[in-house]
Amino acid sequence: MSTVIPAIVAPSATDPLFTGTIERRDVGPADVRIDIRWAGICHSDIHTVQGDWGPQHYPLTVGHEIVGTVAEVGGDVTKFAVGDRVGVGCLVNSCGQCTNCTAGEEQYCLNGATGTYAAKDVDGTITQGGYSTSIVVTEHFVLRVPEAIPYEKAAPLLCAGITTYSPLRHWNAGPGKKVAVIGLGGLGHMAVKIAHAMGAEVTVLSRSNAKKDDALKLGADHYFATEDPETFRTLRNSFDLMINSTSAAIDINAHLKLLALNGTLVNVGLPPEALPVKVGNLIGGRRSFAGSNIGGIAETQEMLDFCAEHGIAPEVELVSAEQVNEAWARVLASDVRYRFVIDVETLEG
Ligand code: NAP
Ligand code: ZN
Repeated sequence: MSTVIPAIVAPSATDPLFTGTIERRDVGPADVRIDIRWAGICHSDIHTVQGDWGPQHYPLTVGHEIVGTVAEVGGDVTKFAVGDRVGVGCLVNSCGQCTNCTAGEEQYCLNGATGTYAAKDVDGTITQGGYSTSIVVTEHFVLRVPEAIPYEKAAPLLCAGITTYSPLRHWNAGPGKKVAVIGLGGLGHMAVKIAHAMGAEVTVLSRSNAKKDDALKLGADHYFATEDPETFRTLRNSFDLMINSTSAAIDINAHLKLLALNGTLVNVGLPPEALPVKVGNLIGGRRSFAGSNIGGIAETQEMLDFCAEHGIAPEVELVSAEQVNEAWARVLASDVRYRFVIDVETLEG
């Protein structure tokens, strides 16, 4: 049995999104049904639909920054009750048994974690995401959204928040550490806010000077435009940690030279193109080039609680269901300040 619900649907890699329907399974014993109130727009939604990371099954509903209230719980559910304010991020299942899952790193499940959309679910269907009015999720993958975080701003934390929090924690951003954030979009602006709250000295590297005032207001200590070649001379050997959040290929070798001795450049941006590294740029300063994928469920809850405690929330622009195609075009043009969030009530008609 299943329920048909309204959703924003991609019919193909190239056609505009339209308002249609998808199906949700009935609530099982360990499941929570969430009435979705807000859904963030992540650049990964666009990469996926466009086929940047490989072919997809269409029609497809994307969205993995989901916030709403619990509408129904299964008989075995212990952590949530009807009415709770909750969130769902990029994961809806994993094996729960492998060494990575048992270590709380479900995103690196050795048997393949199930993504919130475009993934094969246990029943063989393709998962459908949060640009929709409700979702049914195993309770382990449901997060508690603290009341201190404004409701309409919370959704982007479920991907942009955790994807930047996790590497900042893993590579020990904090007092005395110089952190650079490359690209000031949805992920980048969260990296600035979180790294600043952790006590690091934060530098933004954006293509032009257009976002300088914003970056300083978000908590950056310094700002440089990468279109100015002088930036790469001035900042040589500067940073302990660099978070690359850009959605397209950059000159990775020029950026690696900005790392200090033992520094690490972590890619969270996932452009379709390869980033070819000249090994000499690593050897020359015992530098590391790394990647990081979202974060585990326990760490996502830790991030939400951290943001509540530090008064951190994304900068959002709210859009209606019928504005989503326009919002996607603006994301592709880097014309987003700094995350679009869909008002899902406008989808209910
Ligand atoms: P976004 O809001 O579109 O921001 C991307 C930023 O990249 C832009 O604001 C821009 O910054 C910069 N950029 C865009 N085009 C560029 C170009 N041609 N050359 C250099 N810089 C360019 O995207 P997002 O939602 O933050 O996502 C960023 C990337 O992270 C995407 O590839 C997404 O798929 C990936 N992602 C990865 C994970 C993970 O777990 N690792 C999770 C979520 C998203 P400036 O204008 O400041 O230069
Ligand atoms: Zn995302």
